[in-house]
Amino acid sequence: MRGSGPSRSLCRLKRASCAGGACGPFMLSLLLTTTLLLSTATFMATRRPETIAKQARERIARIREALARIDYLCSGTLLERTKMCGRPGCACAQDPAARHGPYFEWGHMRTGKLVHRQVSGQHATALRRAINNYRMARKLLRDWEVETERLIDAEQNRQA
Ligand SMILES: [Zn+2]
Repeated sequence: MRGSGPSRSLCRLKRASCAGGACGPFMLSLLLTTTLLLSTATFMATRRPETIAKQARERIARIREALARIDYLCSGTLLERTKMCGRPGCACAQDPAARHGPYFEWGHMRTGKLVHRQVSGQHATALRRAINNYRMARKLLRDWEVETERLIDAEQNRQA
């Protein structure tokens, strides 16, 4: 079946409308969209809704377990900085390595306002863990959303 099918019609379309060469990106996106649609169709055809739903439920269960393991949870960022004291004769004015600190500052949003707070080194260690956990929790929630959409789609397909 040479010369037939979608690729030939794409070529004809290209020749007809690409005289100025300005529609390259358009053709590329059209091609990508076509490829995506075809691969999605293949994907849907080869996997049964029951299988997709089962996998989505398993992934959601793992996401919930991971969320349940989280203890500390803080948003924001932690800054580590050193300071110059301004006292006459103190080495910190000349030598960056002799600056005072480190000092830790935690910045985060509280009721819509950015709040900065200076914290100790021990605080900073706990906060670092809490902030990492926050990022992980957000990623897990995004994954949960994706799996929920797949689950709902699969359940609707099965009923159809
Ligand atoms: Zn100093």
